Amino acid sequence: MRILQDFELTFQHELNSIYDKEEIKSIFLLIMEELLGIKRIAYQLKKSDLVSETDAIRLLNIVQDLKKNRPIQYILNKADFYGEFFEVNESVLIPRQETEELVDLIIKKHASLSGLKVIDIGTGSGCIPIILSKHLNQAQVTTVDISKEAINTAKKNAQRLGETIHFINADILEWDYVFSDQQYDIIVSNPPYITPNEKQYMQQNVLAYEPELALFIEESAPLIFYDVISSFALKHLVPNGDLYFEINQYLGPETKELIEKKGFHHVQLIKDINGANRIIHAKKRG
Ligand code: GLN
Repeated sequence: MRILQDFELTFQHELNSIYDKEEIKSIFLLIMEELLGIKRIAYQLKKSDLVSETDAIRLLNIVQDLKKNRPIQYILNKADFYGEFFEVNESVLIPRQETEELVDLIIKKHASLSGLKVIDIGTGSGCIPIILSKHLNQAQVTTVDISKEAINTAKKNAQRLGETIHFINADILEWDYVFSDQQYDIIVSNPPYITPNEKQYMQQNVLAYEPELALFIEESAPLIFYDVISSFALKHLVPNGDLYFEINQYLGPETKELIEKKGFHHVQLIKDINGANRIIHAKKRG
């Protein structure tokens, strides 16, 4: 048996070059809760807790993983999104707060309607389609991803959270045949949008562990997904249907212009909580 409190010191000592004190504390408390079932509050009260040798080894392995910049969400295979837990692994992006803002906007705008047909392009962990299915009344939600691993992860999340979603494994750049004459009320996507030269500003834990396929596009065609998906939307949205995108904050005006040129109207560029251009909402003409 070992004294649990000693591990908090080990975490502080080993990780102080990567995280600040408060971050280490909250990572430690999260691990306590997930791994040892010790509620965060209880831990604060009972500092005499002991851990078994087996758990001690698990804790020390986690410290080593964290030292290599591996995100805590991948270590615990769990991420929080819009009040639910999602299973995550290195084949899917860890859901971001910006994306919570995107789904929140859609949920609020469409709260009064029932039975909407929705398609999400680029499933990842399934956070967008599953939360929309949960919060939009009787919505019929479809989602597409090129990655089989992502689809499998998202399917598990849908099942655990009790949502029925239609999954399609296809390359969104070459897919049209899959959809024939389907019509949707809402099309949403958080496609890859980071250009390779932005890598220099990105955190090591993102670069080393998160799937490149979900993050990066070619420098020469930074808006390719917005181009292809908005063309898809011209064909597959109902008249007056809604198109929503998460976008690269540095390409706001260019992305807006592209969507306007396609023929959409009421194209709005919306800022995230940090004041960065992050969402586009557009309407197909009636
Ligand atoms: N917002 C994510 C990030 O900054 C990127 C998401 C994406 O490329 N779609 O890491």
